[in-house]
Amino acid sequence: MTITGKPDEILPTSVRTEALEQLLTERGLIDPEVVDGIITEYETNVGPLNGAKVVAKAWTDPEYRQRLLQDGTAAIKELGFSGPMGWHIVVVENTPTTHNVVVCTLCSCYPWPVLGLPPSWYKDPAYRARVVKEPRAVLSEMGLDLEDDVQITVRDSTSEVRWLVLPERPAGTEHLTEEELVPLVSRDSMVGVAKVEAS
Ligand code: FE
Repeated sequence: MTITGKPDEILPTSVRTEALEQLLTERGLIDPEVVDGIITEYETNVGPLNGAKVVAKAWTDPEYRQRLLQDGTAAIKELGFSGPMGWHIVVVENTPTTHNVVVCTLCSCYPWPVLGLPPSWYKDPAYRARVVKEPRAVLSEMGLDLEDDVQITVRDSTSEVRWLVLPERPAGTEHLTEEELVPLVSRDSMVGVAKVEAS
């Protein structure tokens, strides 16, 4: 692919990404088949179910919860989940009085081994810019209304640190087993833009 255009012309991200991939391939720095394989793996096999398993275990095993909050990457690896975009995952806990919500203000950094690929709204420049400045309003627009006395902390993911939210276990789920809790845990609750509902 050849890219022409005025130097100050900003090309769409997809074009720039393709150009970069081609350049890296030409220089022998990456193998396009490996890149395609990674994308397929994360599109089809790895999704938020891994994160849901981590959350359900933390809800039912207090010692695991403690390890998870102390060293997220290691505790997540205990369940067999690790890999690219997940070498340093930090887990923060939502409680009735404190709420964490995750963003990547620069691009779309996201903990792939536990959540798969990021949803489009997570990559949206409007979400990335606004959630930092007015998190309560953005969360409300996304359907999550928090009480005024709940303290909101916005966690900015980077290529070094990727955040995962441990959502609150909803009331009315005390009788459920770890396996039964897994399907309740939504992707959005682990990014902090939703709560987990009891059913
Ligand atoms: Fe990013």
